[in-house]
Amino acid sequence: MVVRNQPHLSEILTHLGEDRENYFQAISPPVIQSSNFVFPDLAAFREAFTDELESHVYTRGNNPTVEILRKKLAALEGAEDALVFASGAGAIAAAVIGNVKTGEHIVCQQGPYSWTAALLRKFLSRFGIEHTFVDGTDIKNIEAALQHNTTVLYLESPNTMTFECQDLTACAALARSRGIVSMIDNSYCSPFYQNPAAFGIDIVLHSGTKYLNGHSDVVVGVLCASKAMVKKIFESELMTLGGILGPHDAAMVIRGLRTLPLRLQRSDESAKWLIAKLDGHTKVERIWYPFHHSFPQLELAQRQMRGCGGLFSVQFKTDSMEKMEAFVHRLERFLMAVSWGGHESLIIPTIGFYNIQGRAAPPMPWQFVRFYIGLEDPVWLWEDLERAMEAL
Ligand SMILES: *Cc1c(COP(=O)(O)O)cnc(C)c1O
Repeated sequence: MVVRNQPHLSEILTHLGEDRENYFQAISPPVIQSSNFVFPDLAAFREAFTDELESHVYTRGNNPTVEILRKKLAALEGAEDALVFASGAGAIAAAVIGNVKTGEHIVCQQGPYSWTAALLRKFLSRFGIEHTFVDGTDIKNIEAALQHNTTVLYLESPNTMTFECQDLTACAALARSRGIVSMIDNSYCSPFYQNPAAFGIDIVLHSGTKYLNGHSDVVVGVLCASKAMVKKIFESELMTLGGILGPHDAAMVIRGLRTLPLRLQRSDESAKWLIAKLDGHTKVERIWYPFHHSFPQLELAQRQMRGCGGLFSVQFKTDSMEKMEAFVHRLERFLMAVSWGGHESLIIPTIGFYNIQGRAAPPMPWQFVRFYIGLEDPVWLWEDLERAMEAL
């Protein structure tokens, strides 16, 4: 993929893609809440149908508000073009489905986002598409899993629970040498901390629900790639399956993006501060965080990432599930909820997945908690955490 010269981050977030002279010099772009667009004459009608991605025909294809968002996202990832979807899962499904057919094979980093795993295991298997999950911390495992019919290499680096990384330069080179399309779920880093296209990865995917929108009020997916790849997926998966983002949600995400660097820097600094407090604490067994001194892939993480953001995990030291449950219930300023990347700090305690009827216990021990640090004062959060840890 051709990586363009990056415009300045401030240019992208404040101006790029916005044509204020077209809408009364308004600072904020309007929400063009219209399903269809009128043609003044037949010449314009014919012209529009030559490229529905660029022209304005119908909002399932292109909408001016959505288009502003697409331009900003492509520039943020240093990609030629971008598409947005109704969810991260929708973007992931479109990218994968767009590059496989019956009889072909996908190699995927083990333990990806749960619905990515479901796409391969439960959905694509029905259409005769095979997959292999590999431990991608070693490129040799990925190479060994490639078959003559492999057409997609799917990465998630880091993942959002234990943060294993893949060497993106090596993966991109390997995929390219075999004519395989490489793609990555880059939600953990956001474009602010990692740009996989610069390492040669073909498709960069995001759950924009997390950092890109950043306020826990929109579900959105992002796909960044070359113009040719975007056009291919637009004409098939986006237009056929129709999982588009509406113009109102697009305007919300544009607003969220304005503060992307501020929010990520705040989460990143607060997470680092809290980790320093937890490091060596008598109630802490182990910390998972890509830039932590104990992280097995620290060197690789620091080579390809500029920062980590607000996610980390902790295994606490305690001898009973009752004490662990008491700790979870004592937390008042951390909310127990899925997702992450918004303004609010969250926990997912693994113990919540134990003792669910009809569901196997997860691979992580019950003392394991995934933290997301939002925009609150870290001192205020630490008071809560320290008080709750007394229960352990
Ligand atoms: C949340 C998430 C997704 C799915 O995104 P949705 O917007 O919820 O569909 C995919 N990958 C990762 C890493 C996520 O955290």
